[in-house]
Amino acid sequence: MPKWIFVTGGVLSGLGKGLVSASISKLLQEEERNIVPIKCDGYLNVDPGTMNPHEHGEVFVLEDGTEVDMDFGHYERFLGIECRGDWNLTSGRVFSDVIQKERNGEYLGKTVQMVPHVTDHIKKKWGENASQGDADVVMVEVGGTVGDMENQFYLEAVRQMRNELPDQDTYLVHTTLVPYLDAVGEQKTKPTQHSVKELRELGLEPDMVAGRSEDRLTEESVEKISLFCDVDEKEVISDPNMDTVYRLPLVFQDQDAGSIISESLGIQYSSGSLEDWRERTENLSSGPLAKIALCGKYTEMDDSYASIEEALKHSAVEIGGSVEIQQVDTEEFDPEDLEGFDGVVIPGGFGSRGVQGKIEAIRHCRREGIPLLGICYGMQLMSIEYARTVLDLDAASEEFSDDHEDSVIKEMKEQKNVEKMGGTMRLGSYKAEVSGRVESIYGSKEVEERHRHRYELNPEYEERLEAEGLRISGRNPESGLAEFIELEDHRFFIGTQAHPEFTSSFEDPNPLYLEFLNSCTE
Ligand code: GLN
Repeated sequence: MPKWIFVTGGVLSGLGKGLVSASISKLLQEEERNIVPIKCDGYLNVDPGTMNPHEHGEVFVLEDGTEVDMDFGHYERFLGIECRGDWNLTSGRVFSDVIQKERNGEYLGKTVQMVPHVTDHIKKKWGENASQGDADVVMVEVGGTVGDMENQFYLEAVRQMRNELPDQDTYLVHTTLVPYLDAVGEQKTKPTQHSVKELRELGLEPDMVAGRSEDRLTEESVEKISLFCDVDEKEVISDPNMDTVYRLPLVFQDQDAGSIISESLGIQYSSGSLEDWRERTENLSSGPLAKIALCGKYTEMDDSYASIEEALKHSAVEIGGSVEIQQVDTEEFDPEDLEGFDGVVIPGGFGSRGVQGKIEAIRHCRREGIPLLGICYGMQLMSIEYARTVLDLDAASEEFSDDHEDSVIKEMKEQKNVEKMGGTMRLGSYKAEVSGRVESIYGSKEVEERHRHRYELNPEYEERLEAEGLRISGRNPESGLAEFIELEDHRFFIGTQAHPEFTSSFEDPNPLYLEFLNSCTE
C-alpha cells in the first residue's frame, strides 16, 4: 500500500505548488522507492494541448505523447523519472470519462452526482495511477486555490481518502502566501489563516504549512501560523524566493521537511542524499559561462519556453557554471539585437507571428558562425532560410504562407485529414537514425526524442538542400522524415524536429544542449 501526500494551495494561484511537490518528492526519493506524481487541474480542457502557452505556460510532452501541465516538467527534471499521461487529471478528462460511463449504462438506474460518482472516479484513477507506477509514495498536487469552484471535488476526494486510510498513510501540505507589508514592515499571516479556515470548511486539516514569502518566515510568523492553523511549529516551513528553483529541495531539507514527513508516514529517510544536487546548485550561483539569446515571441511573464531554459541550465551546471539567458523578441528584430551573445536558440512555435525575425536571426548566425540550435519550428525555419538564401528559392512553410512557390516545409500526410484539435499532432517519442556530428554528440546511431508538430521538411527539396551543403543527419527509420539537420563547417548549426529539452534533467542534461553550450563557451 502506498503512502499519499496531498499538496493544496491557498490565497493565490501561481505560488509554485508544483515546485513544492517536486522538491518534497526529491527529498523522499530513494533508490528502491517509486514516487508517482499526480497533478489535478480544474480546467475543462481535456488536456492543456489546446491552450495558449503564452497564457498558461508551456505545454509539456511526455514520452507516451500526452500533452500535460508544465508541472510535469518540474517532476521529470527534479526526479529524473518518466511520467505517464494518465497522471495528469483535468476536470475535462474526469467529466468526459464519467459522462461516457453514464452513456454506457454503467450507472444504470442511478442519479449521477458529483459525490459519490465524480469523487469515486477520481479516487479510482488515483488508485490506478499508483499501481501503474508501482508507487511507494504518491504525490497528489491539487491545482488552483482552495475555494475555487473548479477544484472542490478533488478536495472532497482528498477528504474521503484521508478518512478511509489510516492516519499514518496520508499527509497534507498546504502552500500559502505570506506577504510582506512594506508600510508596517512585517510579514502578514492572516491570508494563510483564512485559507486554512477555508480548507477546514471542506473537512481538511493540514499537516504542514509551506509559507511562500519573499524571505524566510520570521519566528513570529511561524508561531502565529502554528497557533491558528493547528500545526506544529516545526511543520510550518519557509518557501522563500530563491535565485534558482533547484535550491528548494535543499532549503526544505535544511528545515528537516524530509524527515518530518517521513516520520509521520512511517517511512525510511536517508538524509544527506542530496550531495551531488547541492554541488550542482552551487554552480548555478557562479558566473555565467555563456550568454544565450532565446529568439521567440513573447508576452510578459512568459513561461512558454520553460523546458528550453531549464535544459540550458542543466548543461551549464554539468560544465561547471551558470548560463545567462535573454529573451529576444523576433517580432521587431534587428541583427544588432544579437550583439554580445555567445549562442542563439530558435525555439518551437506556431503560426506566422515573429517568423521573419527568426529567419533573419538564423541567417545572421549562419553567416557569422554564431552557434545556433533550432528546435522544431526552429529547424523548419533553418531549412527555409537555407533554401531562400543559398538555393535562391521562394521558400516558405505551408503553415504561414499560401503564396510562396516553394513549400520547403509542408504538412505531414497523416495530418491532412485531421479535423479534431487536441492530441492530434505527431506527439511523443520517435526514433531517429543519425549520422554526422549528431551521431558523435549522442554517441549512438540511434536517438529517441519527443515530438509535437504537424509539419515536416518536404522530401522534394532534400536533395537540393543536401547538394548545397545542408546535411540531413537524422531520419525516422520508418517514415524517412528528416529529424536532424546540420552544417559541417560551422561552430554549431544544428536543428532538430524533436524537442530534446523534454528529456533533460538537472542531474542528467540532454547531450544536444550540452554540446551546444560547450560550443558557445569556446
Ligand atoms: N508549427 C510547427 C509544426 O507544427 C512546429 C511545431 C513546434 O515547433 N512544436 O510543425
